[in-house]
Amino acid sequence: MAVPESKFDVVVVGARCAGATLSTLLARRGLRVCVLDKATFPSETLSTCAFQSNGVEVLRRIGVLDEILAAGAHVVRRATITSTHEKFTVDIDPAVYGQVLGMRRTTMDAILIDYAARSGVEVRTKCPVEGVIVESGRVRGVTTRFGDIRADVVIGADGRSSTVARSVGAREYCAHRAGRMPTWSFYEGVDPKHGFFFGAVGGMNVGSTAFLGLPLDGQFIVTVAPPAEDARDYLSDRYTQFDARLQSFPELAAAVDGATRVGPIRVLQKWHSYFRESAGPGWALVGDAGHFKDYSLGQGQSDAFRQAEHLADRLIDGLESDGNLDIELSRWWRWRDRDAWQMYWANTLLGEPHLPDALADGLFGLAARDDALAMDFAHIFNKKVTPLRAAATPARVARVAPGVARSLAGLRPRELPRNTRATAEFIGFSAKLLAQHPQSPWGLRYPRSAHTAQETANATS
Ligand SMILES: Cc1cc2nc3c(=O)[nH]c(=O)nc-3n(C[C@H](O)[C@H](O)[C@H](O)COP(=O)(O)OP(=O)(O)OC[C@H]3O[C@@H](n4cnc5c(N)ncnc54)[C@H](O)[C@@H]3O)c2cc1C
Repeated sequence: MAVPESKFDVVVVGARCAGATLSTLLARRGLRVCVLDKATFPSETLSTCAFQSNGVEVLRRIGVLDEILAAGAHVVRRATITSTHEKFTVDIDPAVYGQVLGMRRTTMDAILIDYAARSGVEVRTKCPVEGVIVESGRVRGVTTRFGDIRADVVIGADGRSSTVARSVGAREYCAHRAGRMPTWSFYEGVDPKHGFFFGAVGGMNVGSTAFLGLPLDGQFIVTVAPPAEDARDYLSDRYTQFDARLQSFPELAAAVDGATRVGPIRVLQKWHSYFRESAGPGWALVGDAGHFKDYSLGQGQSDAFRQAEHLADRLIDGLESDGNLDIELSRWWRWRDRDAWQMYWANTLLGEPHLPDALADGLFGLAARDDALAMDFAHIFNKKVTPLRAAATPARVARVAPGVARSLAGLRPRELPRNTRATAEFIGFSAKLLAQHPQSPWGLRYPRSAHTAQETANATS
């Protein structure tokens, strides 16, 4: 029996969006790459399965997009976004905006990993990585229950509970607790005319609940995300709670009326948002292993694809140059943080358990009457417009403020003090979040070791 090879240029731990894409890109450029995953494929993973056009473009560039479309990916053509009293709709012309897709992870991840193998990557599934090999202060490979595998560089693409991050001691910064608890299920028999839907209602009074709906591979996914603090109540009877909260969203309730729920209601109870130190001697983290945020804006998969593309360039440069690998890895990390901090801000705010009605109604009401603003909001998803530019320039604030004031004025007198206080607190929280991230103009410093690595990159760029 042939002995499996145990020395590669790059070992990638984790073989889904980030790991499979990165491995493919590196193998295509002539590196000897081994990707390891403890799972087998096809298999399910946590996701509401919509991904953005900037990520779709990466799949097009690596040449796998046609396979994904042929396997039944849903092309999103319309998005409806609601707050408690307002609603706006954006038509998404794929030729202009780019393609936004929805696809079950069971289908998509299997295509990506199969494509990696056909691109020359050594794929080993059912192979849990136990830790990293460190020699003279550098990571030199990984340990698995089937033996050691050595490499010039090890990449952790192994998700939120990353073994690589834990083994190298990568610390978190700008961490934030979960605001909501996502719960979701699939439906059969929904009219395919129903497009993508996102809603956030309930404001201060009944506890906000966010909803997402999306057609997928012949089914329709519905996500209900009550405030995390309601978890105990909600989980005591999740089926009744799920159906009851669905009724606050007429479009979604109509979509699943008469349809059949298939499978259980799934729940993600324990999670939080974070950045992690993401590069060091002989190692780097990509995708969720290095950074995780609230799922509300559906960024995780497209970020993983885009990050993989960016990291591949840095790895190629680092491995080709003499001795600059760690500097290139630091550059990668700095780019990841610059790329991510504004979206982290927006995702965290949208994921807050009590999104004040006055603010959401003020913003969404303006978008309902202004197509250009609605399109700017839509372009937040594919990162063509930054969240700050869409919602928080002085000009935008000046336009939104009267709507917020009108929403507050429309409240019943006894609701006013609580809502005014909540709106002010929310704005304060938003400013604090901005000030936390080291890459924001008002940002604080990186944790010490992270800062040192940043300085290395700064000094050489
Ligand atoms: C509830 C929820 C809903 C979401 N909805 C969306 C959405 O609609 N759109 C979107 O874009 N994103 C969404 N996301 C985020 C998205 O799913 C992730 O960002 C994305 O999957 C990250 O890909 P990844 O490759 O970095 O990690 P993962 O998909 O987590 O893959 C990591 C892989 O590493 C493997 N692994 C872990 N440890 C080891 C080990 N020790 N040894 C070997 N293998 C290991 C795992 O088996 C896994 O296959 C959602 C997330 C959640 C939690």
